[in-house]
Amino acid sequence: MDYYLECVKCGCRFPSSYNKQTCGRCSSILEVIYKGNAKVPPSRNFWDYEKLMPKGKYKHYQVGSTKMIKSKRHSNLFLKVELTNPTKSFKDRGSVIEIAKAMEYGYNEIAVASTGNMAYSLAYYAKKEGIAVSVFIGRVANPDKLADILRMHDAKLHMVKGDFTKAQAYAAKYASTSGAFLSGDYCYRKEGQKTVGYEIAAQLPDATHIIVPVGNATLISGIYKALKDLRRCGTIKRMPKLVAVQAKGCAPLVKAFNSSSTVKYEAPKTSADAIAVGFPTFGDQAIEALHGTAGMAMMVTEKEMIREQKNIYEDHGMVVELASSATVAAFNKLALKKSDKVAAIISGGNV
Ligand SMILES: [Zn+2]
Repeated sequence: MDYYLECVKCGCRFPSSYNKQTCGRCSSILEVIYKGNAKVPPSRNFWDYEKLMPKGKYKHYQVGSTKMIKSKRHSNLFLKVELTNPTKSFKDRGSVIEIAKAMEYGYNEIAVASTGNMAYSLAYYAKKEGIAVSVFIGRVANPDKLADILRMHDAKLHMVKGDFTKAQAYAAKYASTSGAFLSGDYCYRKEGQKTVGYEIAAQLPDATHIIVPVGNATLISGIYKALKDLRRCGTIKRMPKLVAVQAKGCAPLVKAFNSSSTVKYEAPKTSADAIAVGFPTFGDQAIEALHGTAGMAMMVTEKEMIREQKNIYEDHGMVVELASSATVAAFNKLALKKSDKVAAIISGGNV
Protein backbone atom coordinates (compact mmCIF):
# COMPACT_ATOMS: atom_id res chain seq x y z
CA MET A 1 0.00 0.00 0.00
CA ASP A 2 1.06 3.58 -0.57
CA TYR A 3 2.55 5.16 2.52
CA TYR A 4 4.68 7.86 4.03
CA LEU A 5 6.99 7.83 7.04
CA GLU A 6 6.45 9.88 10.17
CA CYS A 7 8.89 10.54 12.99
CA VAL A 8 7.49 9.23 16.28
CA LYS A 9 9.18 12.06 18.17
CA CYS A 10 9.10 15.31 16.16
CA GLY A 11 6.32 14.38 13.73
CA CYS A 12 8.42 15.20 10.67
CA ARG A 13 7.09 13.45 7.56
CA PHE A 14 9.02 11.80 4.75
CA PRO A 15 7.77 10.36 1.44
CA SER A 16 8.18 6.65 0.70
CA SER A 17 11.13 7.56 -1.53
CA TYR A 18 13.07 8.65 1.61
CA ASN A 19 15.81 6.03 1.78
CA LYS A 20 16.43 5.83 5.53
CA GLN A 21 14.74 4.36 8.59
CA THR A 22 15.46 7.18 11.04
CA CYS A 23 14.30 10.80 11.10
CA GLY A 24 16.41 13.16 9.02
CA ARG A 25 15.77 15.93 11.54
CA CYS A 26 16.04 14.32 15.01
CA SER A 27 17.31 10.75 14.28
CA SER A 28 14.37 9.10 16.09
CA ILE A 29 12.56 6.08 14.72
CA LEU A 30 9.90 6.44 12.03
CA GLU A 31 6.49 4.90 11.63
CA VAL A 32 4.97 3.68 8.36
CA ILE A 33 1.62 5.47 7.84
CA TYR A 34 -0.57 4.09 5.07
CA LYS A 35 -2.57 6.25 2.71
CA GLY A 36 -5.51 3.89 2.67
CA ASN A 37 -7.31 1.18 4.57
CA ALA A 38 -6.70 -2.29 3.17
CA LYS A 39 -8.76 -5.21 4.43
CA VAL A 40 -7.03 -7.96 6.39
CA PRO A 41 -7.70 -11.15 4.44
CA PRO A 42 -8.81 -14.19 6.45
CA SER A 43 -5.59 -16.06 5.81
CA ARG A 44 -2.72 -17.77 7.54
CA ASN A 45 -0.27 -17.04 4.76
CA PHE A 46 2.30 -14.29 5.06
CA TRP A 47 2.20 -12.98 1.48
CA ASP A 48 -1.60 -12.76 1.49
CA TYR A 49 -1.01 -9.69 3.70
CA GLU A 50 1.11 -7.92 1.11
CA LYS A 51 -1.55 -5.21 0.66
CA LEU A 52 -0.99 -4.29 4.31
CA MET A 53 2.74 -3.90 3.79
CA PRO A 54 4.69 -0.88 2.47
CA LYS A 55 4.44 -0.76 -1.31
CA GLY A 56 7.53 -2.48 -2.72
CA LYS A 57 8.91 -5.16 -5.01
CA TYR A 58 8.90 -8.28 -2.87
CA LYS A 59 10.23 -11.64 -3.81
CA HIS A 60 7.89 -14.11 -2.21
CA TYR A 61 10.36 -15.99 -0.09
CA GLN A 62 8.95 -18.75 2.05
CA VAL A 63 8.50 -16.98 5.37
CA GLY A 64 6.01 -16.76 8.22
CA SER A 65 2.76 -18.73 7.75
CA THR A 66 3.71 -20.65 10.87
CA LYS A 67 1.60 -23.19 12.69
CA MET A 68 -0.15 -22.84 16.00
CA ILE A 69 -0.29 -25.90 18.22
CA LYS A 70 -2.27 -26.67 21.33
CA SER A 71 -0.16 -27.12 24.42
CA LYS A 72 -0.14 -30.68 25.71
CA ARG A 73 0.26 -29.40 29.26
CA HIS A 74 -2.26 -26.55 29.54
CA SER A 75 -5.75 -26.73 28.06
CA ASN A 76 -6.05 -22.99 27.35
CA LEU A 77 -2.56 -22.41 25.96
CA PHE A 78 -1.71 -22.31 22.25
CA LEU A 79 1.83 -22.01 20.93
CA LYS A 80 2.53 -19.87 17.87
CA VAL A 81 5.64 -21.65 16.62
CA GLU A 82 8.05 -19.35 14.76
CA LEU A 83 10.84 -21.95 14.58
CA THR A 84 9.86 -23.03 11.07
CA ASN A 85 11.00 -19.73 9.56
CA PRO A 86 14.13 -20.23 7.41
CA THR A 87 16.49 -18.93 10.11
CA LYS A 88 14.39 -20.32 12.94
CA SER A 89 13.00 -17.08 14.31
CA PHE A 90 10.22 -14.55 13.66
CA LYS A 91 12.86 -12.06 12.50
CA ASP A 92 12.59 -13.42 8.95
CA ARG A 93 9.17 -11.77 8.61
CA GLY A 94 10.78 -8.36 8.96
CA SER A 95 13.97 -9.16 7.09
CA VAL A 96 12.21 -9.85 3.79
CA ILE A 97 10.69 -6.37 3.94
CA GLU A 98 13.91 -4.62 4.96
CA ILE A 99 16.06 -6.31 2.34
CA ALA A 100 13.54 -5.51 -0.40
CA LYS A 101 13.61 -1.85 0.68
CA ALA A 102 17.42 -1.79 0.75
CA MET A 103 17.39 -3.12 -2.84
CA GLU A 104 14.77 -0.59 -3.92
CA TYR A 105 16.90 2.29 -2.62
CA GLY A 106 19.97 0.95 -4.38
CA TYR A 107 22.07 0.01 -1.37
CA ASN A 108 24.74 -2.65 -1.69
CA GLU A 109 25.45 -2.95 2.03
CA ILE A 110 23.38 -3.06 5.20
CA ALA A 111 24.53 -2.41 8.77
CA VAL A 112 22.80 -4.07 11.71
CA ALA A 113 23.19 -4.45 15.46
CA SER A 114 22.09 -7.78 16.79
CA THR A 115 22.05 -10.13 19.75
CA GLY A 116 22.20 -13.00 17.20
CA ASN A 117 18.85 -13.79 15.55
CA MET A 118 18.53 -10.49 13.72
CA ALA A 119 21.94 -10.73 12.09
CA TYR A 120 21.40 -14.37 11.18
CA SER A 121 18.11 -13.55 9.53
CA LEU A 122 19.25 -10.44 7.65
CA ALA A 123 22.49 -12.10 6.52
CA TYR A 124 20.50 -15.02 5.13
CA TYR A 125 18.36 -12.84 2.86
CA ALA A 126 21.12 -10.36 2.07
CA LYS A 127 23.28 -13.17 0.73
CA LYS A 128 20.46 -14.29 -1.56
CA GLU A 129 20.31 -10.75 -2.98
CA GLY A 130 24.06 -10.18 -3.10
CA ILE A 131 24.08 -7.38 -0.52
CA ALA A 132 27.00 -7.09 1.92
CA VAL A 133 26.26 -7.20 5.65
CA SER A 134 28.09 -5.54 8.52
CA VAL A 135 27.00 -6.90 11.89
CA PHE A 136 27.60 -5.13 15.18
CA ILE A 137 27.52 -7.40 18.18
CA GLY A 138 27.89 -6.65 21.87
CA ARG A 139 29.39 -9.05 24.34
CA VAL A 140 26.00 -10.23 25.55
CA ALA A 141 25.31 -11.93 22.23
CA ASN A 142 25.28 -15.66 21.70
CA PRO A 143 28.67 -16.77 20.28
CA ASP A 144 27.25 -19.87 18.53
CA LYS A 145 24.85 -17.75 16.54
CA LEU A 146 27.72 -15.52 15.51
CA ALA A 147 29.75 -18.45 14.24
CA ASP A 148 26.85 -19.40 12.01
CA ILE A 149 26.60 -15.92 10.59
CA LEU A 150 30.28 -15.73 9.80
CA ARG A 151 30.69 -19.15 8.29
CA MET A 152 27.59 -19.36 6.19
CA HIS A 153 26.66 -15.87 5.18
CA ASP A 154 29.88 -13.98 4.55
CA ALA A 155 28.86 -11.27 7.01
CA LYS A 156 31.44 -8.85 8.30
CA LEU A 157 31.52 -8.91 12.08
CA HIS A 158 32.28 -5.95 14.34
CA MET A 159 32.61 -6.87 18.01
CA VAL A 160 31.57 -4.02 20.27
CA LYS A 161 32.64 -3.50 23.85
CA GLY A 162 29.33 -3.23 25.63
CA ASP A 163 25.83 -4.55 25.14
CA PHE A 164 23.25 -4.42 22.36
CA THR A 165 22.40 -0.77 22.97
CA LYS A 166 26.04 0.14 22.41
CA ALA A 167 26.16 -2.04 19.30
CA GLN A 168 23.10 -0.27 17.95
CA ALA A 169 24.80 3.11 18.30
CA TYR A 170 27.88 1.78 16.49
CA ALA A 171 25.76 0.37 13.66
CA ALA A 172 23.98 3.72 13.23
CA LYS A 173 27.28 5.59 13.18
CA TYR A 174 28.79 3.13 10.70
CA ALA A 175 25.76 3.44 8.41
CA SER A 176 25.93 7.23 8.41
CA THR A 177 29.60 7.28 7.41
CA SER A 178 29.83 4.23 5.10
CA GLY A 179 26.57 4.72 3.23
CA ALA A 180 25.17 1.35 4.34
CA PHE A 181 21.43 0.93 4.93
CA LEU A 182 20.78 0.96 8.67
CA SER A 183 18.71 -2.15 9.32
CA GLY A 184 17.30 -3.94 12.34
CA ASP A 185 14.53 -2.91 14.68
CA TYR A 186 13.12 -0.03 12.65
CA CYS A 187 9.94 0.85 10.79
CA TYR A 188 10.08 -1.62 7.88
CA ARG A 189 10.84 -4.60 10.10
CA LYS A 190 7.84 -3.79 12.23
CA GLU A 191 5.60 -4.00 9.14
CA GLY A 192 6.77 -7.56 8.47
CA GLN A 193 6.59 -8.68 12.04
CA LYS A 194 3.06 -7.42 12.57
CA THR A 195 1.88 -10.34 10.41
CA VAL A 196 2.24 -12.58 13.48
CA GLY A 197 -0.82 -10.73 14.77
CA TYR A 198 -2.86 -11.34 11.59
CA GLU A 199 -1.96 -15.03 11.61
CA ILE A 200 -2.89 -15.46 15.27
CA ALA A 201 -6.28 -13.86 14.60
CA ALA A 202 -6.86 -16.35 11.76
CA GLN A 203 -5.73 -19.34 13.83
CA LEU A 204 -7.19 -18.45 17.22
CA PRO A 205 -9.94 -15.87 16.51
CA ASP A 206 -11.16 -15.87 20.11
CA ALA A 207 -7.75 -15.39 21.73
CA THR A 208 -8.05 -13.46 24.98
CA HIS A 209 -4.31 -12.95 25.56
CA ILE A 210 -1.18 -12.89 23.41
CA ILE A 211 2.08 -13.34 25.29
CA VAL A 212 5.04 -11.70 23.56
CA PRO A 213 8.73 -11.81 24.52
CA VAL A 214 10.16 -8.30 24.56
CA GLY A 215 13.68 -7.27 23.59
CA ASN A 216 13.54 -4.18 21.39
CA ALA A 217 9.71 -4.34 21.49
CA THR A 218 9.30 -4.24 17.70
CA LEU A 219 7.26 -7.43 17.71
CA ILE A 220 4.77 -6.38 20.37
CA SER A 221 4.23 -2.96 18.82
CA GLY A 222 3.85 -4.62 15.41
CA ILE A 223 1.24 -7.01 16.78
CA TYR A 224 -0.63 -4.06 18.28
CA LYS A 225 -0.69 -2.43 14.85
CA ALA A 226 -2.13 -5.68 13.43
CA LEU A 227 -4.78 -5.82 16.14
CA LYS A 228 -5.87 -2.28 15.30
CA ASP A 229 -6.21 -3.30 11.63
CA LEU A 230 -8.21 -6.36 12.63
CA ARG A 231 -10.56 -4.30 14.77
CA ARG A 232 -10.97 -1.69 12.03
CA CYS A 233 -11.99 -4.46 9.61
CA GLY A 234 -14.40 -5.97 12.13
CA THR A 235 -12.46 -9.25 12.18
CA ILE A 236 -12.14 -9.01 15.95
CA LYS A 237 -14.58 -7.22 18.21
CA ARG A 238 -12.36 -7.03 21.26
CA MET A 239 -8.59 -6.92 21.28
CA PRO A 240 -6.78 -9.70 23.11
CA LYS A 241 -4.71 -8.44 26.02
CA LEU A 242 -1.06 -8.13 25.11
CA VAL A 243 1.26 -9.58 27.74
CA ALA A 244 4.87 -8.36 27.54
CA VAL A 245 7.47 -10.68 29.00
CA GLN A 246 11.05 -9.88 29.89
CA ALA A 247 13.74 -11.70 31.81
CA LYS A 248 14.11 -10.59 35.42
CA GLY A 249 17.74 -9.72 34.66
CA CYS A 250 16.73 -7.32 31.90
CA ALA A 251 13.27 -5.88 32.30
CA PRO A 252 13.31 -2.15 31.54
CA LEU A 253 9.89 -2.21 29.87
CA VAL A 254 8.21 -4.21 32.63
CA LYS A 255 9.57 -1.86 35.26
CA ALA A 256 8.51 1.23 33.33
CA PHE A 257 4.99 -0.06 32.67
CA ASN A 258 4.38 -1.36 36.17
CA SER A 259 5.57 1.86 37.79
CA SER A 260 3.87 4.16 35.23
CA SER A 261 7.19 5.79 34.37
CA THR A 262 9.32 6.10 31.27
CA VAL A 263 11.67 3.38 30.03
CA LYS A 264 15.13 3.63 31.51
CA TYR A 265 18.26 1.82 30.39
CA GLU A 266 19.20 -1.29 32.34
CA ALA A 267 22.40 -3.33 31.86
CA PRO A 268 21.24 -6.80 30.69
CA LYS A 269 21.93 -9.71 33.03
CA THR A 270 20.22 -12.67 31.47
CA SER A 271 21.15 -15.72 29.38
CA ALA A 272 17.99 -15.19 27.30
CA ASP A 273 20.16 -13.50 24.66
CA ALA A 274 17.36 -12.79 22.18
CA ILE A 275 15.69 -10.43 24.67
CA ALA A 276 18.84 -9.04 26.34
CA VAL A 277 18.13 -5.46 25.32
CA GLY A 278 18.78 -2.78 27.94
CA PHE A 279 16.82 -0.01 26.25
CA PRO A 280 14.02 -1.11 23.88
CA THR A 281 13.87 1.06 20.76
CA PHE A 282 10.10 0.60 20.57
CA GLY A 283 9.63 0.93 24.34
CA ASP A 284 7.19 3.84 24.23
CA GLN A 285 5.15 2.12 21.54
CA ALA A 286 5.08 -1.08 23.58
CA ILE A 287 3.70 0.80 26.56
CA GLU A 288 1.02 2.28 24.29
CA ALA A 289 0.22 -1.27 23.09
CA LEU A 290 -0.18 -2.51 26.66
CA HIS A 291 -2.47 0.37 27.58
CA GLY A 292 -4.41 0.02 24.34
CA THR A 293 -5.22 -3.64 24.99
CA ALA A 294 -5.61 -3.46 28.78
CA GLY A 295 -2.54 -5.66 28.79
CA MET A 296 0.15 -6.38 31.34
CA ALA A 297 3.90 -6.78 31.70
CA MET A 298 5.74 -9.41 33.69
CA MET A 299 9.19 -10.72 34.45
CA VAL A 300 10.29 -14.33 34.57
CA THR A 301 13.40 -15.77 36.20
CA GLU A 302 16.21 -17.68 34.50
CA LYS A 303 15.10 -20.79 36.39
CA GLU A 304 11.51 -20.47 35.15
CA MET A 305 12.63 -20.03 31.53
CA ILE A 306 14.93 -23.06 31.73
CA ARG A 307 12.20 -25.21 33.29
CA GLU A 308 9.73 -24.35 30.53
CA GLN A 309 12.39 -24.86 27.86
CA LYS A 310 12.68 -28.43 29.09
CA ASN A 311 8.90 -28.87 29.34
CA ILE A 312 8.39 -27.68 25.76
CA TYR A 313 11.01 -30.14 24.58
CA GLU A 314 9.45 -33.01 26.53
CA ASP A 315 5.91 -32.20 25.40
CA HIS A 316 6.47 -31.19 21.79
CA GLY A 317 10.02 -32.23 20.87
CA MET A 318 10.93 -28.63 20.06
CA VAL A 319 14.21 -27.04 21.06
CA VAL A 320 13.38 -23.40 21.79
CA GLU A 321 15.45 -20.50 23.01
CA LEU A 322 14.90 -18.99 26.45
CA ALA A 323 13.17 -15.91 25.02
CA SER A 324 10.52 -18.36 23.74
CA SER A 325 10.07 -20.43 26.89
CA ALA A 326 9.77 -17.10 28.73
CA THR A 327 6.26 -16.77 27.28
CA VAL A 328 5.15 -20.11 28.75
CA ALA A 329 6.78 -19.20 32.07
CA ALA A 330 4.68 -16.03 32.00
CA PHE A 331 1.54 -18.03 31.15
CA ASN A 332 1.95 -19.88 34.46
CA LYS A 333 1.66 -16.56 36.28
CA LEU A 334 -1.51 -15.32 34.60
CA ALA A 335 -4.74 -15.33 36.53
CA LEU A 336 -7.04 -16.89 33.94
CA LYS A 337 -10.67 -17.80 33.58
CA LYS A 338 -11.59 -21.23 32.26
CA SER A 339 -12.86 -19.73 29.03
CA ASP A 340 -9.65 -17.79 28.32
CA LYS A 341 -7.54 -18.72 25.32
CA VAL A 342 -3.91 -17.69 25.36
CA ALA A 343 -1.49 -17.53 22.45
CA ALA A 344 2.17 -17.63 23.45
CA ILE A 345 4.76 -16.73 20.84
CA ILE A 346 7.53 -19.27 20.54
CA SER A 347 9.76 -16.73 18.88
CA GLY A 348 12.88 -18.67 18.00
CA GLY A 349 14.91 -21.82 18.25
CA ASN A 350 18.51 -20.76 17.81
CA VAL A 351 19.99 -22.35 20.90
ZN1 LIG B 1 12.20 13.48 14.17
